[in-house]
Amino acid sequence: MTIPQARIVSRTACEQCRMCTDLCPRYLLGHHIEPHKMMRALSYNLEDVSELKIAQLCCECNACELYSCQANLHPKTVNVLYKQKLAEQGIRYQPTQIEFKPREAREYRLIPSKRLIAKIGLTSFDKPAPVTQLEFRPESISISLSQHIGAPAVPVVAVGQQVNAGQLIGKIPDNSLGAAVHASFPGTVTEVSDNSIVIKVGSYV
Ligand code: SF4
Ligand code: SF4
Repeated sequence: MTIPQARIVSRTACEQCRMCTDLCPRYLLGHHIEPHKMMRALSYNLEDVSELKIAQLCCECNACELYSCQANLHPKTVNVLYKQKLAEQGIRYQPTQIEFKPREAREYRLIPSKRLIAKIGLTSFDKPAPVTQLEFRPESISISLSQHIGAPAVPVVAVGQQVNAGQLIGKIPDNSLGAAVHASFPGTVTEVSDNSIVIKVGSYV
């Protein structure tokens, strides 16, 4: 279903039973999110989104769409629509408290995994999947020096150097935020560039 279709169906068919709110994990943790009110706002086509800032409390877990709503409506999608409208107008939810107490009903409203799996049609895939131990030993490995949004690591090894598994091969640049890089296998460094370090896997200890 496309977002415009979800919008039309949600607008016309919500019966305001509030199951989406009562089972919402964020609501049960004590946050003031109430997706059924977003559905109501959509039905009445409320234009003043400044009163609908609670949409920003939705973490888009999708429990309301995949499980809670017995009418198969789209409260999460409606939350997302209002989040977009709020973002366009530069409006942000400001919490009025810093500590949240889970609602007393929470322990009775947790979603059973088996029921969720059945609801989304995955029961036939819910089989035992034991782990098989395999020894993985590649001939060589290329380790990226930039594996996140921080500064790329700076190489601290040179071509021809032997390294052990777990040994530091790239350090965090001075005065920067980043992450150090370590060898995942023992071996000989065969290539060092600004982007990566290549290690020919050996058996150095
Ligand atoms: S979206 Fe579904 S669960 Fe939420 S109030 Fe409407 S009908 Fe009920
Ligand atoms: S998608 Fe949002 S509104 Fe729906 S259950 Fe998750 S947090 Fe609650």
